[in-house]
Amino acid sequence: MTVITIGIIGGGQLGRMLAMAAARLNFRTVILEPQADCPAAQVASAQITAAYDDPAALEELAKRCDVVTYEFENVPVAAAETLQRAVPVYPPAKALEVSQDRLTEKRFLNSCGIATAKFHAVDSQADLERALADFGGQGVLKTCRMGYDGKGQRVFRSAEESPVGAYEALGSVPLILESFVAFEREISVIAARAWDGTVACFDPAENIHRNGILHTSTLPARISEATARTARESAEKLLAALDYVGVIGMEFFVMADGTLIANEIAPRVHNSGHWTEAACIVSQFEQHIRAVTGLTLGNPHRHSDCVMTNLIGDDILDVPAWLARKDVLVHLYGKTESRPGRKMGHVTELKSPSQG
Ligand code: AMP
Repeated sequence: MTVITIGIIGGGQLGRMLAMAAARLNFRTVILEPQADCPAAQVASAQITAAYDDPAALEELAKRCDVVTYEFENVPVAAAETLQRAVPVYPPAKALEVSQDRLTEKRFLNSCGIATAKFHAVDSQADLERALADFGGQGVLKTCRMGYDGKGQRVFRSAEESPVGAYEALGSVPLILESFVAFEREISVIAARAWDGTVACFDPAENIHRNGILHTSTLPARISEATARTARESAEKLLAALDYVGVIGMEFFVMADGTLIANEIAPRVHNSGHWTEAACIVSQFEQHIRAVTGLTLGNPHRHSDCVMTNLIGDDILDVPAWLARKDVLVHLYGKTESRPGRKMGHVTELKSPSQG
């Protein structure tokens, strides 16, 4: 049997779980990550310890791998394009370009007919004041690039709140002001697209964030079948428009009338899809590995209701109690040092067989 090797750019927990899923299907993995002994390298076949845009490291990765994928969306687009000339890279570099910049992302979503919050580009304090005036003094100000887990954001809740200094406080970098969305709940859908364009979607999860970081994902989400269908259809539209291969995560706000507003896309496996390893036959990680290696997609059917909870920082101390539970799958990320806000692992509680 020929040995197929998958390159993974990024060595965090998502890369770790991809490498584990790859190993189960007889694939080897090589991780490109500057931090030695990273979570992914602990379970992979090899690590190239270098920066994501190091030309020699990219050349070596291309040589050693049959296909390359990534576990985070801030992979330099130029690095993906360089690699692409030597080896297939999935998802396509276009998906990185779209998801790295919130303005580009919103414009792209709108061009696919997918609704987002209203927004204005903000490149100065004067822009900010004009944009806030347009939204009645309310809005969420975000850096266009490199924001994650609620970092690089400021919420304006009322016209009484002064925006003075806000542009500078966020680093005088390109910003976006989004209108404040009074949503009822947040959901996400994890979908996959194969080489031949086949799409498979997992059930939408209902997500609760704490301090800007995902806290829990609950299945089923408290939404109507029509809302779930719209979420799946939006993902399908986006995947087709990007000529995508692999797993994508798409987050939405659900309004009181059930309509959806897309918030963010992640061209990779997603934290709100971790539950799939416990409640589906094929996890999002295996689905991604299947997609990028040209295999048939797995069945995304959910056999159980469940709740996934992230273990953040000192939550790691609760692991013995979680391990004592009979209905819980514990997954730890091999990080030796716990810090506030750091994702150390997650647990998925199975609730009951799905009625769906
Ligand atoms: P993000 O980094 O865009 O995923 O935002 C982090 C969290 O902030 C979201 O999950 C929401 O809970 C909240 N949030 C972000 N954008 C908005 C918005 N335009 N209106 C209301 N809440 C938002």
